[in-house]
Amino acid sequence: MLMIGLFVFIVGTIFGSFFNVVIYRLPRKESITTQRSHCPHCQAPIKALDLIPLVSFVLLKGRCRNCHSKISLRYPLVELLSGISYLLMYLQFKLTIPFFIGIALASILIIITMIDLDTMEINDRFQVAIFVLAIIYIFTQDVNIMDHLIGFFIISVPFYIIALVSNGLGGGDIKLIAMAGLLLGYRATFVAFLIAAVVGGVYAIYLLKQGKSQKQAIAFGPYLCLGIFFAYLYGNQLLDWYLSLFI
Ligand SMILES: [Zn+2]
Repeated sequence: MLMIGLFVFIVGTIFGSFFNVVIYRLPRKESITTQRSHCPHCQAPIKALDLIPLVSFVLLKGRCRNCHSKISLRYPLVELLSGISYLLMYLQFKLTIPFFIGIALASILIIITMIDLDTMEINDRFQVAIFVLAIIYIFTQDVNIMDHLIGFFIISVPFYIIALVSNGLGGGDIKLIAMAGLLLGYRATFVAFLIAAVVGGVYAIYLLKQGKSQKQAIAFGPYLCLGIFFAYLYGNQLLDWYLSLFI
């Protein structure tokens, strides 16, 4: 099991380095498959040897082999994040269908988060991808379809109403929690929202105390992604724990 866990982690970091390509090129409308990776400073193509996830970054001490300009820390961070999230999915689900849906979900959430941080937008193709995962989940797992249909509406409808009266929430956030809600079922969707609200709220208070503009705090997508990720992994346990606080 330790060996499989390590293998899953490494596979996660390899996928993570591919996500870096997607995160960088998709908003710039560059091709994801045809072009070789190159240094954004000197345009030198990156050698295969220097594309080993995490390891290359450490060996190169975070600098381009050709021009020695600094490589952003976000590249190894995305690889590490991918490796860890794949590993957590394996530890929770072993090699079952929910594991494969889980790593696909984690991958999408990581890409959404990074692109949302860069551009404040969530591309619709990722919403469609989560919808497809939800359909696969519902039809392969022994679930109550009603729970998942309610999950689609339970947070997205209040979000939609909030969006109508204020400008605080984007359409991307609403679609994201609707699609994720269909996948998670309404209980875990509620957990996802709670995590997003608490973590996002704490960070917003922190930013306000720092005297930063409120605008940064409004990007809710990354918090939703965080919430959805942990709700998928531990939703029911977290809900039991949360409810036990009130009894
Ligand atoms: Zn360079």
